[in-house]
Amino acid sequence: MSLIVVSNRLPVTIGKTIEKSSGGLVYAMEGLSYDTGFQWIGWAGGAVADAAERDRLTEELRERFNYRPVFLSRQEAADYYTGYSNSSLWPLLHYITPYARYKEVWWETYQKINRLFAETVSEQAKADDIIWVHDYHLMLVPSILRRQRPDLKIGFFLHTPFPSYELFRCSPNREELLDGLLGADLIGFHTFSYLRHFRSTVLRLLGLESEMDCIPMETHTAAIGVYPIGINSQKFLKEMQSDEYRRCLQEYRKTYQGKKIVLSVERLDYTKGIPRRLDAIERYLDQSEQRNDIVFIFISIPSREGVREYQDLLESMQGRISQINGKYATIQNVPIHFIYKSINFSELCALYSLADVAMVTPLIDGMNLVAKEYLACQQEKKGVLILSEFAGAAQELPNALIVNPYNINEVAQTISKALKLTEAEKQKMITPMKERVIKYDARHWADSFIHDLVETFETAEALPDTREISSDVIKRISAAERLGLFLDYDGTLAELKKKPSDALPDEEINRLFSKLENAKPVDVYIISGRTKEDMEKWFSRYDFSLIAEHGYYYKHYNASEWIEFDPQAELSWKNQIIDIFQLYTGMTPGSFVEEKTSSVVWHYRNSDPEFGRWKAHQLVAELYDMLTNLPVEIHHGKKIVEVSSIQINKGSVLEHFMLLNRYDAILCAGDDETDESMFRLNAEGIVSIKIGTGDTAARFRVSSPRAFREFLAQTIDELTAMQATRTED
Ligand code: UDP
Repeated sequence: MSLIVVSNRLPVTIGKTIEKSSGGLVYAMEGLSYDTGFQWIGWAGGAVADAAERDRLTEELRERFNYRPVFLSRQEAADYYTGYSNSSLWPLLHYITPYARYKEVWWETYQKINRLFAETVSEQAKADDIIWVHDYHLMLVPSILRRQRPDLKIGFFLHTPFPSYELFRCSPNREELLDGLLGADLIGFHTFSYLRHFRSTVLRLLGLESEMDCIPMETHTAAIGVYPIGINSQKFLKEMQSDEYRRCLQEYRKTYQGKKIVLSVERLDYTKGIPRRLDAIERYLDQSEQRNDIVFIFISIPSREGVREYQDLLESMQGRISQINGKYATIQNVPIHFIYKSINFSELCALYSLADVAMVTPLIDGMNLVAKEYLACQQEKKGVLILSEFAGAAQELPNALIVNPYNINEVAQTISKALKLTEAEKQKMITPMKERVIKYDARHWADSFIHDLVETFETAEALPDTREISSDVIKRISAAERLGLFLDYDGTLAELKKKPSDALPDEEINRLFSKLENAKPVDVYIISGRTKEDMEKWFSRYDFSLIAEHGYYYKHYNASEWIEFDPQAELSWKNQIIDIFQLYTGMTPGSFVEEKTSSVVWHYRNSDPEFGRWKAHQLVAELYDMLTNLPVEIHHGKKIVEVSSIQINKGSVLEHFMLLNRYDAILCAGDDETDESMFRLNAEGIVSIKIGTGDTAARFRVSSPRAFREFLAQTIDELTAMQATRTED
């Protein structure tokens, strides 16, 4: 089992020669304690049109680094990378929806390139390999890959924020993107807020309920977790021992002698809050007495220069800086030094360790590594970190001077405060943060993610599945001379649907029903909470006995009339329940009341999922207070609250037919609370199966309706084969 890392770009620069870059991800991967070696798949950058040159590059990358390049044409890169990734997704994920632009061809190319990445992984991966997919460029890869290679363990890490549902819902491709991610076995985020937003979005857009640490689905469960990325701290500590670093430091000390330095380092990006920071600096300068003694250094790394918003930002930033400099410069000092290029690593470390204050004030940022790098470079003389509460890093670094970057006054005052702190105060703030940054570095981050990914998969493997129960159970059932099948329908034979009328038997279920009908000697009972009209419409063409409304109505397979199973049942309580249900319907938009013969149901599946659930809990509590003396049962099921007669339940129906027809084996299956009365019978000869998660009295469990259908089909095949042998004997 080995690891394949998949990211948009391979960590290499291809010029005359191939140079490996030394980003945090490379360091993290190379230091993994899960050390079985790894392969890296990603775009090589640029466009290589010549096939022979592609082959040569592929070979060299494989031989020197075990990297596998994905090649994109110039047009593909423009549509998938500059277009959909950086002009549609990046602003959306960073809360700046007015900047998000959409073009159909971008989305089509994004899908195509995600498929290309997934296919490349499929070709390269051996059975059971671990795949770690990175970031927003490849959000569809997990589910494409899962379809192609269900044997792989797939992890996905999102390096950006995940915005709140209210923003994510603005994407024209929102469902597809979520489906894409949910193909993973583990999805990681930098902070708990992003994870919380993701859960809420998945609930509201896909109707999927989740736990704090996982999202159970029919096909698999996707674990979710928080893994704040760290930096390559050792690289910074080592650099600060180098001669080149010392030389830079000495030079800068001389240049900036007698001045306080306030440093900003970032890619020039509209998420970094540069215009507001400039406003705050202007406000500070306006009020400050020490204009001659302070220098604001902006290291702005050119980024995405092909995207219109980045060009506009550069232009406006340049204008704003010259305006401020014009206003506040003196013969002795120019307040803002603007450097629009990358600087080398020694220069960066020297600036970090020299700066009295670092201003990291993004409007939103997945993590922000600059904040952590600045801390790692604080030596004897300590600086101060001003950090936006909207950077992921703020969750880990509460000792920084945390600011709201939208509040210009607050930021201006914080600059002033930072410059007045004593050495002892700075020491006290910086020391624990620096320790944290050094300890929880990029390797620790990667190690925790991979550890959890492997664990997740092991847990899934350990769950009992149909195969595990089948040999034992099938043997017992197949040997029966008279077998009774008591099968719930919704959530058991068919997947639950948003609209109950959509759950009608599809082709696969009808095939299974025909198979059941022909299997002898088997009596099939479909036992459901549905009305007799629904059941009549969907199931009467089969040779099955039907039980509607949890046992109130019964129709024998060769009869044409429904009968009341227990005509004496007391039902006078219904009006009282309808009144209170109607009260809740008024308070809960989207909910409605359904009256059945022996029960009343309050449905809230069309309401806001969280509000609906909260109201349902209130309703149930109120019902328990109200109904102590009535012969009723309260059932809070999947998006419903049902009050039904206590005299009527699936268990008593099953018991009745078991005795009447003297079955020597019974298989009963169901997915919710109303099926538990059958499971609780637990008599000799009853095999009970619960579908899905949750507490149960059933003896066996399968994960989903699909798994149950497979199990049932297989059981019937065995039974038929057994019958055939018996007949021959
Ligand atoms: N950085 C760089 N070139 C420079 C100065 C800094 O590549 O001239 C690095 C910096 O050290 C940091 C990264 O750029 O590691 C910026 O990462 P961050 O998480 O702060 O922001 P992002 O660019 O991911 O939005």
